[in-house]
This record gives sequence, structure tokens and C-alpha cells, in this order.
Amino acid sequence: MGRYTEAVCRLCRREGMKLYLKGDKCYTEKCPVHKRPAPPGMHGVSRRKLSEFGVRLREKQKLRRIYGVYEAQFKTYFQRASKTKGVTGTRLLQMLEARLDNVVYRLGLAASRKEARQLVAHGHLAVNGGRVKAPSYQVRPGQRVTVADPADIPPRVKELAALPGRKPPSWLEFDPSRMEARVLALPAREEIDVPVQEQLIVEYYSR
Ligand code: SF4
Repeated sequence: MGRYTEAVCRLCRREGMKLYLKGDKCYTEKCPVHKRPAPPGMHGVSRRKLSEFGVRLREKQKLRRIYGVYEAQFKTYFQRASKTKGVTGTRLLQMLEARLDNVVYRLGLAASRKEARQLVAHGHLAVNGGRVKAPSYQVRPGQRVTVADPADIPPRVKELAALPGRKPPSWLEFDPSRMEARVLALPAREEIDVPVQEQLIVEYYSR
């Protein structure tokens, strides 16, 4: 299965909310969710009420799209989450948050998870001193996330890191002067600000 390459803004309109997939544009009036909030397609405005299955499906799709994860990979996350200790929905969210691309996004070094994914894939990040190119790499508490080559930091990353007022979530610590972050812990549910009801996703896979 290929990566989704159509206009990503359609995904937000389909879910009826901003998923913040395009970075800077998402924070402007140009965001299509402001202009055309109805789902895409000819019958977008007139769509009927969703069935119970439809509600759960949409919730799953929403979360998958927020993190930019393939269907099969998402299912694997769910299966792993259901086998580990703890509340399955929370574990699922923690695994998605612990992806290296998400950590880069949360640190404010990229304006979107897509941009963060590219930075990682191009080898600009390192974990505990070793270059990591897999956006899905799972960070663990105590690990250090840095730029792989301090002499070759992309200008865009420097620019974003220097923006005032950016604050990483409480489970991450970031020193912009050294471009070094530390994972303090895995996030608790209340520290993960994604607008999903993860219990519906658990029910989707339990049907
Ligand atoms: Fe979604 Fe951002 Fe496009 Fe708005 S601009 S529809 S938030 S991707």
C-alpha cells in the first residue's frame, strides 16, 4: 500500500476537524476547515448520521491520520498495546507519541509530523549519539535525542528551534542552545493532546 498523496486537507475535512497535517498553513485562515467544513465530495453536506461502526471507524482513521501511520502499522501498534500492561487505549497513544518523528514534532523542530518524518528519514537526528533514520523508532525514558551532525543542522530546524514561546510537553526536556532533548518519561494520557476517544478505537478492533 502506498502513502497517501492526495491533498491532505481532505483528510481533515473528512474527519470534520483540524488534524494539523500541513504545519504553518493549519494556523492560518487559509485552512480549508474554516472555509469548507463539510466532508469532501459531492454529497459531503448531505451525509447521513454515522452508524456505531462508522463512529468507531472514523475515530480510528482520525488517530491514524494524525500520526501519519499506515493501516497495517497502526494495527500492529494496537496489537502490541493490547498485549502490554496497562490500559490498551493509553498504551496505543503512548506508542504513537514515542515515535521519533512525533518527538521531533513535539520538540518544535518541525511544523508538522510529516516534516518531522522527513527530517528523521534524511538522517538528521540521533538517539544516544547514534544516527537513527527510522521515523517509527520508539524512544524510551532516559534517552537523549540530538541532531546527528551539529555542523549540518537544516536552516529550517534552526529557525523553528529559535522561535520564542515554544514549549515541549512535560515528558520531554529540550535545551535549544545545545539542540539536545531528553525523554523524561512516557506521557500520561492527560499529557497527550490528541482529540480522540481511544476507547472507541479499542472497541473497533474488538468487534
Ligand atoms: Fe488540516 Fe492543516 Fe489542511 Fe487545515 S490546513 S485542513 S488543519 S492539514
